[in-house]
Order: sequence, then C-alpha cells, then structure tokens
Amino acid sequence: MPQQGILLVVSGPSGTGKGTICRELLRSNPQLKYSISATTRQPRTGEADGVNYLFVAKNHFQTMIENDDLLEWAEVYGNFYGTPRHYVLEQLKNGYDVVLEIDTQGAMKIKEKFPEGVYIYIIPPSLDELADRIHKRGTDSLEVIKKRLHCASAELAQAHNYHYIVVNDQVAAAVQKVETIIAAEKHRAERN
Ligand code: 5GP
Repeated sequence: MPQQGILLVVSGPSGTGKGTICRELLRSNPQLKYSISATTRQPRTGEADGVNYLFVAKNHFQTMIENDDLLEWAEVYGNFYGTPRHYVLEQLKNGYDVVLEIDTQGAMKIKEKFPEGVYIYIIPPSLDELADRIHKRGTDSLEVIKKRLHCASAELAQAHNYHYIVVNDQVAAAVQKVETIIAAEKHRAERN
C-alpha cells in the first residue's frame, strides 16, 4: 500500500500568478496531480473543459452539491466553484500529492477536514503590481477587474491562516520555493 500523498492547497488573490506557479510545478513534478475544479463560470478564451475546469451549468453544480460530490464549494465573484471529492481522495490514496488551487473560503473548509494538508498563500509583490497584472492579462472586463481588486484586499487579510506565504516576484523563484516546501513537508516527522 503506497504512503498517502500530501494535499497541497494554494490560494492567493486573482492575478497573483498562482495558476502559472501551479502549471510550472505540475510540469516538473509528475508526483503531483492537479484537482480540476467544477465551476459555473463561463470559459475564458483559451480555456478548455476538463483541462482548466469542468465547466458546468448551475443546476448540474447544484446536483453535485446534493450528491455530496464536492469536498468543498464556494461562491467567488458571483460564480460557483467546487472541488470534486472522488479524484482528490483517490489520488491521495494512491500516493500522489494533489494540489488544490482554490479561494480562501474553500481552503478554510478543506483545512477543517484535512488539517494535515499544506496550506500555501501566494502574494504579489504589491497591490499595484497585482492591478497591473490583471489588466495585462486582458481576459476580464473592467467591471470584473474592479470586483477582483476589491476582493483582493479582503483575500490578503486571510494570509495568516496559511502555513506558508510565498511572494511571487519571479515565477521561477516562487516555484522553487514551493518545491522546497513540498520537499520539507515530505520529511516532516509526524508524517512518518
Ligand atoms: P478564476 O475565475 O480566476 O479561474 O478563479 C476565481 C477564484 O476561484 C480563484 O481564487 C480560484 O483559486 C478560485 N477557485 C477555483 N476553483 C475553486 C474551487 O474548486 N473551490 C474554491 N473554493 N475556489 C476555487
């Protein structure tokens, strides 16, 4: 029976670069699996169903909640997002590490169920830098950008609930920091 994998929960304000960090981590760590969330949000240009998200209708999402198919779910920026239960538990059981890229509400729900997980909060070097990155991404309307920046300040106040805080000034450096955290966590005495 393989040793249970590590559950890694990564949060951070929108535009902080956590998606890029997760993608890089997955590319170089085959031991790590990504939990694809279900969402009722519309796909952005370049996003594909089953790759970035499972894009579902509201009534489908409601059914997932009723069937207890989600480990957690939350409403973020007016859309619903949730973590499919089966995939995560199965991968952990098979000894893979699993990364959840979710918001702070979801992360705190997961923390109650999985206190042994590793909770990482990614922050931008500054709020100005964050605004700049969201604008440059060019995928959101002005109204959505405003909403996201407003939520970002509230989100940042949640950072203290995480085990690690990683500043993303350079992606490669941030990825390396997260890899170091994972490596250290693998050697944590209580896990052995
Ligand atoms: P976006 O719309 O930019 O892809 O994501 C918006 C926010 O929802 C981000 O903070 C993202 O981490 C979060 N999110 C994505 N999937 C989930 C999920 O399954 N559960 C929760 N609680 N938040 C999620």
